[in-house]
Amino acid sequence: MQGMMMNMPLSVIEILRFGAQAFADEGIVSVRCEGDIHRETYAEAYARSGQLAHALKGLGIGIGDRVATLAWNGYRHFELYYAISGMGAVCHTINPRLSAEQMVYIIRHAEDRVICTDLTFVPVLESLAAELPQDLKIVVMTDRAHMPDSALDLLCYEDLLAPQPTEYDWPTLPEDTAAGLCYTSGTTGNPKGALYSHRSTVLHALFLAVSVPRSVYEGARVLPVVPMFHVNSWGLPYAGPLTGTSLIMPGPSLDGASVYDLMEQEKVTASWGVPTVWLGLQGEITKRGALPKSLDQLVIGGSAAPRSMIEFFEEKGVDVCHAWGMTEMSPIGTQCQLPKHMQSLPRKEQIDAKTLQGRRMFGVDLKICDEDGTRLPQDGTAVGELFVRGNAVVSGYFNNEEASQAALDAEGWFGTGDVACITPDGFLSIQDRSKDLIKSGGEWISSIDLENLAMAHPKVANCAVIAIPHPKWDERPIIVVVPQDAGDPPQLDEIHALMDGHMAKWQFPDALELVDALPMTATGKVSKLTLRRQFDGYVLPDAG
Ligand code: AMP
Repeated sequence: MQGMMMNMPLSVIEILRFGAQAFADEGIVSVRCEGDIHRETYAEAYARSGQLAHALKGLGIGIGDRVATLAWNGYRHFELYYAISGMGAVCHTINPRLSAEQMVYIIRHAEDRVICTDLTFVPVLESLAAELPQDLKIVVMTDRAHMPDSALDLLCYEDLLAPQPTEYDWPTLPEDTAAGLCYTSGTTGNPKGALYSHRSTVLHALFLAVSVPRSVYEGARVLPVVPMFHVNSWGLPYAGPLTGTSLIMPGPSLDGASVYDLMEQEKVTASWGVPTVWLGLQGEITKRGALPKSLDQLVIGGSAAPRSMIEFFEEKGVDVCHAWGMTEMSPIGTQCQLPKHMQSLPRKEQIDAKTLQGRRMFGVDLKICDEDGTRLPQDGTAVGELFVRGNAVVSGYFNNEEASQAALDAEGWFGTGDVACITPDGFLSIQDRSKDLIKSGGEWISSIDLENLAMAHPKVANCAVIAIPHPKWDERPIIVVVPQDAGDPPQLDEIHALMDGHMAKWQFPDALELVDALPMTATGKVSKLTLRRQFDGYVLPDAG
């Protein structure tokens, strides 16, 4: 029997329409690329999103078209999120840390019609101009006074908005209409696009709001260090107006001192980001001898939160919430706010628990399996590949049949490429990664792509790229090379030269080590596991 309730589709713009009405005093504070601080309420953001939707329509954007953003965290980026999805188009956030080659690939693959860029990235687009589609329109997210001189044909964001009415007749869309697109690194080859729907985006925001209530609530002031160009800033731009949380957008400066100052000036209550950023903040807190005054919670994810970091903040009274997730999960899967019965445990035991990645959010299911796909017990000891399913988990990749085919197992669960165990009370503990990727400062590096490029060197007989733990970046790549001629081995800079143009410079290996042979698995592949063990304790040149 069918339920008899209205079938009102979930819609992203409804979040902002609600926030604008319900939380008149809350909104967005932004450090602008122009150098100053800007403030707007959610009501103002909603009105400007209406103007923006008219402007985009005027540029020819219609339902299903992709509109790209290349921008820091700020109010204009926020307006783009809502205007693009609201009008039925797809907001494609581009990660500016990608290599030029990858960026061109995703702009072409997504078939972006318009790209909206911060001032910072105009030179990037200028350098790519020859390879970009001829009809791609470029909008610079600034006002007339700050428009740069450029050989490119640039449109000005504020000029486009100014003549437009604030009311927009937002279309009613089926809730599975695409709303956002975010590419993530493949283990090899080109990035793959996670295509979020209105339904998954709204549900994820709701799940997040009930799962991390210490961060998001009416009157809270959250600083998303995690970028809006990478997995929707972990959903905060949606959870903000939904819950009445103000968003303090840091713009381009993410170093410890800038983050500290902004937290202090804007009375930030919680902040979300990757461990590399918190290391910078730790240094600043130690230097100044005090915490930013209102800071109450840090959400740490993207890479494992080191125990010393959790201890540092917890000892000073900041609640640390360790979280795990991925682009394909919108992204949050688990979070480690301790359940009530654990909050009275001795501090050491609480910290022990917080080093784990936490328990599942509502809307997310976890399972671990062995290599044959057989489920393993969740007993805190069995270790296997982690699979997930849920309302905000991808079912495949945008326009990528091959990757989509490989994404789900026979039961329809998504394979995360993480290796984990799960305790009987549901705490996830990430142990390793089976995907051949390295995560540096929260961003991916494909070891296979580096290896393929290095193999082109005539002095390289074989090679493998592995991650080495790094105190600041979490992991950094090194390349282990079997030389053709031990008497005349290749040098690191020669290997870098082969990578130039194909990979971003920060993705290049930090060191080259020579070996006589690489360890092999039974199936004739290089055993990265054995190799990593061989390099256990290896100290990188700059990490001494
Ligand atoms: P991304 O898609 O870029 O958000 O990266 C997702 C991946 O980052 C996961 O599959 C994990 O490999 C890793 N990751 C995210 N959060 C954590 C965490 N708390 N601990 C360990 N690894 C993490």
